[in-house]
Amino acid sequence: MSETMTVTVRDRSAEAPWGVGLTSPVTRQVTISANCPRCGQRRGEPRGLNQVDDGAHYWVQVWINPCGHVDMYADVVVEAAARLEAASGALDPVDADVDETPDEYDDDVPVRPGLDLDPDDAHDRVVDASNEVV
Ligand SMILES: [Zn+2]
Repeated sequence: MSETMTVTVRDRSAEAPWGVGLTSPVTRQVTISANCPRCGQRRGEPRGLNQVDDGAHYWVQVWINPCGHVDMYADVVVEAAARLEAASGALDPVDADVDETPDEYDDDVPVRPGLDLDPDDAHDRVVDASNEVV
């Protein structure tokens, strides 16, 4: 059982795409390994940092790894999500396939704008048409 550390990071993946709406930084507290995922050495000690992005203030934690590997928030968020998923299932965190997109994400893909949905066509995909009373 490896040690963990809990840090507050910025999750850009949860924010509106660049140029859409106001800059609204999303921060979240995540639990990650206390060790560098690349070399296994101890990660640096987190410290709080007040940040400003386009007039929006937020607080996150930063750390400098003694080993020299730089942790990106995006990677940290992915690592934390993989840990959560591993903890909720029977998977060993070390063997968890981080690169595999969970099935649930596929359902979240929004309908592409401009896609003309034919009501009849959509019907056929959702229900068994033979059970339909017309
Ligand atoms: Zn390292």
